Amino acid sequence: AVKAGEMVYAWTTEDKIAQKAECGGAVTGLLKYALANKMVDAVLAVQRGQDIYDAVPTIVTDPDKLAGTAGSLHCGTLLLAKVVQKFQKGSPDKKLAVTVKGCDLMALHELAKRKGVNLSNLLLIGVNCGGTVSPVKARAMIKEVYDVDPNLVHKEEIDKGQFIIEYEGGHKGISIDELEDDGYGRRSNCRRCLYKVPRQADLACGNWGVIGDKAGKATFVEVCSDKGADLLQKAVKGGAIATAPADPKGIEIRKKVEGAMVKLGQKWRKKDFTSLKADLWNKIAEETSRCIKCYSCIENCPVCMPVSNNGVETKSLMVEQGALPPSPMFHMRRFAHISDSCVNCGQCEELCAMDIPLALFSHAIRSEADLAFEPKLGKPDYSN
Ligand code: FAD
Ligand code: SF4
Ligand code: SF4
Repeated sequence: AVKAGEMVYAWTTEDKIAQKAECGGAVTGLLKYALANKMVDAVLAVQRGQDIYDAVPTIVTDPDKLAGTAGSLHCGTLLLAKVVQKFQKGSPDKKLAVTVKGCDLMALHELAKRKGVNLSNLLLIGVNCGGTVSPVKARAMIKEVYDVDPNLVHKEEIDKGQFIIEYEGGHKGISIDELEDDGYGRRSNCRRCLYKVPRQADLACGNWGVIGDKAGKATFVEVCSDKGADLLQKAVKGGAIATAPADPKGIEIRKKVEGAMVKLGQKWRKKDFTSLKADLWNKIAEETSRCIKCYSCIENCPVCMPVSNNGVETKSLMVEQGALPPSPMFHMRRFAHISDSCVNCGQCEELCAMDIPLALFSHAIRSEADLAFEPKLGKPDYSN
């Protein structure tokens, strides 16, 4: 029997999924098996919308439609936790399978602590994540650095440390280190992220460590829970996916790459936080003075719930309605109640109408607090 802790190479047995999948289609094969066999009522996955910069969270209830969700989209600004929350609000008894990155998983755990989601109704298929690129920056980067019209790009991938694009007339890859040295590349919160292999999911899937003839054609699956073991075992028995033991050399390589990525994340934290050190509060005051109180940072944060225990939205006595810029208390209040739990998902910053580096501030405050109180973020084996 399959057990938690096991590591295998896995791939789909279905051509339609394999053609569209990122690395052999095990993830989509597993999701399809779970849905078709009523282990879950629905799947939440991510589908390409208008173009490669448009990653759309999609609920699927027809197993035959799952092939359309295969493939990795690196240029979306996505956090799936709040979509799960909305789904469960409408359908509290339905079981949902969802593909999650580390930030999705951390956000789900924070929401679960606040009774915003029910983890027991979720089947979590984790994907390793080295980072994402904001859609706006991706377009600028492709135009300015790659010298290619971003509208002509029909595929992007991140492989062996390079961001690679395929477009009408060719393909180009540039090292992410080089792009980031020039101010492009991954979102700044992804650079600082240390949660690369989502071991709090039921299965953790990725391409790191797949070597030999299976490279590019299979996914490395680490079984992280009994639920994950049960799904993998049943999906293999049912013929939905095939597996082979992970190559011991591949296991070592995966460990090394994960370690190197964590070190890189620590380097970015040091760089970003050190630059704030001298003048954090003045910097916060200066940047937030641009705020137009659109409330996007509040609405999109998985931790920020400005409601009291009886569910009523709480009103601040120290923030005048309709006044711009808002009094410092508008942001102080937010930092005060989220900064012990900020998961560095980047949503507040990415979706801020005024480009205020909010995630940098809340992550810096959170990381500082972790040094003194309860270190949670910052450990590669993040656990609640
Ligand atoms: P598929 O069958 O192709 O299924 C992929 C699944 O991912 C689908 O369910 C799809 O809906 C979902 N998905 C696509 N984009 C997103 C998104 N932005 N957010 C959430 N879900 C999404 N593996 C590594 O080993 N190292 C990495 O650095 C790494 N970085 C990644 C970064 C991102 C943003 C993503 C999405 C994946 C990353 N992976 C990484 C995982 C890898 O790309 C494959 O997803 C994994 O190996 C599974 O391959 P597959 O063929 O089985 O998946
Ligand atoms: Fe994410 Fe920003 Fe909320 Fe932190 S404060 S959890 S980065 S949205
Ligand atoms: Fe202000 Fe930006 Fe938050 Fe909108 S998203 S309320 S502009 S800080």
